[in-house]
Amino acid sequence: MPISLTELNTFGLQQHCSSLISVTSKVDLIETCNSLYAKQPLLILGGGSNLVFTANYLGAVVNIATKGIKVTDDDKFYYLCVQAGEGWHDLVEFCLNNKIYGLENMALIPGSVGAAPIQNIGAYGVEFNRYCHEVEFLRLDTKQLLTFSNDQCQFGYRDSIFKQELKNLAVITQVTLKIPKNWQPVLSYGPLQSLDPSTVTAKQIFDCVCNVRRSKLPDPKVLGNVGSFFKNPVVHSTVYSELLNHYPNLVAYQQDDGQYKLAAGWLIEQSGLKGFRVGDAAVHQDQALVLVNLKNATGEQVCQLARHIISVVNEKFSVTLQVEPRIIGAVGEIEI
Ligand SMILES: Cc1cc2nc3c(=O)[nH]c(=O)nc-3n(C[C@H](O)[C@H](O)[C@H](O)COP(=O)(O)OP(=O)(O)OC[C@H]3O[C@@H](n4cnc5c(N)ncnc54)[C@H](O)[C@@H]3O)c2cc1C
Repeated sequence: MPISLTELNTFGLQQHCSSLISVTSKVDLIETCNSLYAKQPLLILGGGSNLVFTANYLGAVVNIATKGIKVTDDDKFYYLCVQAGEGWHDLVEFCLNNKIYGLENMALIPGSVGAAPIQNIGAYGVEFNRYCHEVEFLRLDTKQLLTFSNDQCQFGYRDSIFKQELKNLAVITQVTLKIPKNWQPVLSYGPLQSLDPSTVTAKQIFDCVCNVRRSKLPDPKVLGNVGSFFKNPVVHSTVYSELLNHYPNLVAYQQDDGQYKLAAGWLIEQSGLKGFRVGDAAVHQDQALVLVNLKNATGEQVCQLARHIISVVNEKFSVTLQVEPRIIGAVGEIEI
């Protein structure tokens, strides 16, 4: 009996899977994955906020619902050992309520803690890797339970070893964060710049981030979406200078290595694509970086729309946009 995935993906795409298993303990998670791997298609699912289903999934979906947050500390740091199925925003709130400060810039990012290392989630000037101590995962092909240090995870901008060498080979079971007791607010980004660094509290940053996100991003419960659909492209300074000559209003941020991160939303908007739609899949009217499901969009329509955007932006700016969410076909991940 096929099982609906509509409620399990924030795009609200109406696809089914052959079987759905919800696991609530780490032991069950490991046993379930070991018994299914290589016998049938296997998809690990957290909050479904970074996925596009293009077809019914002809395999088993394992929904991680493991819970638990264990806090220890030493003179300088808090250590939080968190199970993969905890909600990311719940963790941010837990920290705030327990006077552990640092995660507040990443408030309201949907999804699970276990998915956070995969694309090294980030927002408002802070990325997950800033506080990541260790990631524990089941390596599916060897059945080993391994622990990687921050360095071993090879974090980058929306990137990690779990999207590269270990793509679709690792089931993240638990994450340990290391958060300094000596809190330093990060106010470098956008609306946070107006807060006073000498008096600001973590709660004020949390509230500011939540307010801005609620006003800027469409609520997936109202309008299906997966947040930013494209990564902000990072280009060499010569490419940046050339583009700036043609487009004096170009929105870009210099990186530590001298490269420039271009605002993908600006590139899409300048390509005249705000509101553009394929079927019920559309570029959001206000946020060009967000693709939305107006009602009955299919994953195929979303991908067609994304391909069109990539091609138009490439023609105008000679910059190739890369897709941020994972595209899931009938038996596993596919390229757009
Ligand atoms: C409104 C909105 C706003 C967003 N804003 C941001 C933002 O500001 N910054 C940001 O970085 N992201 C943002 N995102 C994207 C999303 O929240 C993150 O990518 C999040 O980490 C996805 O978590 P998830 O549990 O929903 O993953 P899912 O969508 O369930 O899964 C995503 C991928 O990870 C795999 N996966 C999930 N859990 C595990 C696990 N435990 N082990 C191995 N593989 C796993 C899945 O198989 C899939 O390939 C936003 C999304 C939405 C809808």
